[in-house]
Amino acid sequence: MTEFKEEKAMSDCIFGYFDSAEQGEPIYDPGLHVPCPCCLLPVGDRNGVTTISLLAEKDTWSFFFRAHTGCWQQASAKEKTAIESSLIDSRNTGG
Ligand SMILES: [Zn+2]
Repeated sequence: MTEFKEEKAMSDCIFGYFDSAEQGEPIYDPGLHVPCPCCLLPVGDRNGVTTISLLAEKDTWSFFFRAHTGCWQQASAKEKTAIESSLIDSRNTGG
């Protein structure tokens, strides 16, 4: 019965944040225990992690998430766009 809750929490915590695009160190790093958005296994479970950075145009902050390099390379452009936009949406509606 807690599935929805966990899913929402997941989409919240897989992000790391930068408060400016120029900043080298994230203000929050979610670590390697968070799920890969492609296969939902922890990103630290496999060799090869890729970091995808996203800029929110209307804000000065940016954020990033991680996925398995193999998963991300196999995903089509359409799938990547769908993942990115769903993650962005989860941020925008999350307050
Ligand atoms: Zn994966």
